[in-house]
Amino acid sequence: MKQGKLIVFSAPSGSGKTTIVRHLLSKEELNLEFSISCTSRAPRGEEVNGKDYYFLSLHDFKQHIKDGDFLEWEEVYRDNFYGTLKAEVERIWALGKHVIFDIDVAGGLRIKKKFPEQTLAVFVKPPSIDELKIRLKQRKTESEDKINMRIAKASVELATAPQFDTIIKNYELEVALKEAEELVTNFINS
Ligand code: 5GP
Repeated sequence: MKQGKLIVFSAPSGSGKTTIVRHLLSKEELNLEFSISCTSRAPRGEEVNGKDYYFLSLHDFKQHIKDGDFLEWEEVYRDNFYGTLKAEVERIWALGKHVIFDIDVAGGLRIKKKFPEQTLAVFVKPPSIDELKIRLKQRKTESEDKINMRIAKASVELATAPQFDTIIKNYELEVALKEAEELVTNFINS
């Protein structure tokens, strides 16, 4: 099977990486397909099973871990597991497309380690922790507790930024989108 490239976007929750990934997916010429992750958390807002995530019970998620089905997985927050199935990447490669991931920093670095040449690992940096808090509150999808949990994790995640191939500062969305597009275009054509 012909293997495409792997484009990883990682960042603390609320940094805007999902917006950047969606923008890139809208550019047909990039030939990207979104890697749908599995998660044990409940759907949020308008999320759809099989489009945003494969929503699994904790039991089923743990069974996939036991069976060795994941390329990478993480307990990103307590009892909230997230992971990429090997079969998901194979599905996308079989379509002749490149894979784009929206995953946490540990998962992103793991993929980079497994496929060093094929992977572009991008870290999206928010302006500040305070700004992250504001963005998460505006999103209105998480409780105060969950927001605090995500903020607590953000500082640890920010420290991993230098391990990525490149850092995009998401201080102004339009600038970040343009930078991301250029980066990915160059990597795919390299
Ligand atoms: P959320 O609950 O906001 O959708 O995602 C929480 C965090 O888990 C985000 O940083 C998201 O990128 C990350 N995540 C989503 N899918 C995966 C995955 O397959 N593996 C890993 N390691 N993290 C993921």
